Amino acid sequence: MQQFLRRHSNAAFVILVALPLALLLALQSWWLMKLQQAAVSADRATLTNYLDTVMADLVSDYGPSADRALRLPSELFTGNNLNRATETFRRADFLGVRTFFVRQLTSGQPQTLLFYDRERGEMEVRPPSAETRAVIVACKPYESFAVKGIELDRSRLSVEERDPDHRIVLMPILGSDSRVIGVAGLVLDEAYFRESRLPQLVRQSLPRFFPDDMRENVVVRVLDGRGCTVFETVPAERGNDDVTHQLSFVFTDWQITAANRFAHPSKIARANLWVTLTLSGLAAIVLVAGLGLALRTTTRELRLSRMKSDFLANVSHELRTPLASIRVFAEFLKLGRVGDGQKIREYGTFIDAESRRLSKLVENLLDFSRIESGQKRYVLQPMDLLPVIEETLVSFRVRAQQSGTPLVYEPPDSPGLNVDLDPEAFSQALFNLLDNALKYSPAGLPVELTVERQGHEVVVAVRDRGIGIPADEHAKVFDRFHRVGSSLVHDVKGSGLGLSIAKHIVEAHGGRLTLESAPGQGSLFRLHLPALG
Ligand code: ADP
Repeated sequence: MQQFLRRHSNAAFVILVALPLALLLALQSWWLMKLQQAAVSADRATLTNYLDTVMADLVSDYGPSADRALRLPSELFTGNNLNRATETFRRADFLGVRTFFVRQLTSGQPQTLLFYDRERGEMEVRPPSAETRAVIVACKPYESFAVKGIELDRSRLSVEERDPDHRIVLMPILGSDSRVIGVAGLVLDEAYFRESRLPQLVRQSLPRFFPDDMRENVVVRVLDGRGCTVFETVPAERGNDDVTHQLSFVFTDWQITAANRFAHPSKIARANLWVTLTLSGLAAIVLVAGLGLALRTTTRELRLSRMKSDFLANVSHELRTPLASIRVFAEFLKLGRVGDGQKIREYGTFIDAESRRLSKLVENLLDFSRIESGQKRYVLQPMDLLPVIEETLVSFRVRAQQSGTPLVYEPPDSPGLNVDLDPEAFSQALFNLLDNALKYSPAGLPVELTVERQGHEVVVAVRDRGIGIPADEHAKVFDRFHRVGSSLVHDVKGSGLGLSIAKHIVEAHGGRLTLESAPGQGSLFRLHLPALG
């Protein structure tokens, strides 16, 4: 599993994070859209319920009152008793009625039409007018019932509104044989309905359906049969999504509409949807970025830990090799087997060179830890560079000789290449370059060292004819622990620190370390130091 993750980290990232996240986002969007639809439906349902209630109030307001006022005893229509209708009308008189009337339709009797005079409390005959004509027309259906002798099972209110100026509620009066013998009726007062009763009906139910802070946003409007606004709670434009009901029982050609205008829930829900989706998108981006970062860090940690373990193995090997040689030669000397003075000197030189190399290796490790912890200090002093180079070559020559590598070094003719130098540190940097030239070249191929003044710089160049370094590795070889991944390099042990330390040292001197190399063509490392004078 760990192996798979390491190798296919991108695929793992998509499978483990991006896919579930995309799924989650899609589900959330779907769910939010459903929620938005539900919110809109709920809003419409509330508006519909509200209008239903207004309608019910309207019917219960006019229906029972009209029924009470118009249910007259049938005896009034059989004798000459129509005037007695005043008793019922006086008791039942309610606001919203322009006038009451009775019409006698008993066969063999004149079709008397009497209106109730409120002021005098009497029934009266009125001269022909638009109103009397409208009443006569409204009574016509019952007149024909009476003439034809049609029986009705019971008397029930009906409303005649064909003439919008005269809206009439009628109650047929039935005789004992269930035939129509007369009609009692009332003409509605439209002005009162429009100006007083309707606003009251609309407003009284609002608090039951809408909380205080929402109420002012609810626009309720009533339109007459011609589509003109007769009443509205708040002046506002008409919208397509208004909920509309036709008025019932009376004023049936009128419409009542309701809408949540200023902060329409569908708009709020839509806005909410986008805000939530945007926030989720942002959260997802942050999450993905965070996870990406974590993944990168983990990959780097894994790489680093691999490098560290390689490093430990390599360093131990590097330390072990010179130690083993020193032990062998020291053993020879200790046992006194070597009598030849020449040989003794040779062994001594070898032990000296190997122990110097060992010191350099240990110095590298110490330098690295000092550089990492920021404690590495350089003490620069103006001095001639050449003696320091000579000193560095002392141990290196022995090593080169042993491995059969010719070292080509011609000290420059012009002495006095003065630079500001920390000799120990510089020697370490140069040693690392020479050591690499030796390590990464097949035996027998020369390593060349040149020192020269180039303008304001003194350039120390180490050239080998070894395996070389591919161009894409040129920058990386100066990174700590980095080793080129070719098999040629892996045959050679190394810590991966030499170049990074050399670079640090030369930069601390105000200089730079450059590289020219190609695979199979050898490498050329140059230490550029600012020249003095
Ligand atoms: P190491 O201890 O591995 O030599 P360095 O930091 O000195 O570490 O070098 C880093 C890597 O750069 C080496 O592992 C090697 O791959 C490459 N390298 C350095 N010097 C040379 C060279 N002269 N020729 C070829 N490759 C080199």
